[in-house]
Amino acid sequence: MPVGPVARDGRTAVFFDGTSRGEFLIRRCQHCGAAGEPAIGQCPGCGSADLDWSPASGVATLVSWTVVPGREGGATILAIGQLAEGPWWWAQFADADPAALRTGLPLRITFERDGEHEAVPVFRPA
Ligand SMILES: [Zn+2]
Repeated sequence: MPVGPVARDGRTAVFFDGTSRGEFLIRRCQHCGAAGEPAIGQCPGCGSADLDWSPASGVATLVSWTVVPGREGGATILAIGQLAEGPWWWAQFADADPAALRTGLPLRITFERDGEHEAVPVFRPA
């Protein structure tokens, strides 16, 4: 399943440095310790903008999904997973049978790369 080319910018450089090492980085509040998904600009718990990067476990459970038919056959599954650390994240769901999906299905995060572009997180069945 191709993930397509993804390029970093100033906001995503640290995140993609992590994916290139096989790490999924989330944000951790320096004040209250709450976890947030990688793109947040402030803490979901206390509103602080003082956020660190922290490696997540890569373990998640399926919250919701949609199956997008391809123009030339096949389909792509887009899923929302709840990370073990709490935040939700959406990504392509690879190697999954759409008929077997159910809420709460155990997931793991792996990484796909299109040529020389950035490594992109995808969900797979755990
Ligand atoms: Zn906080």
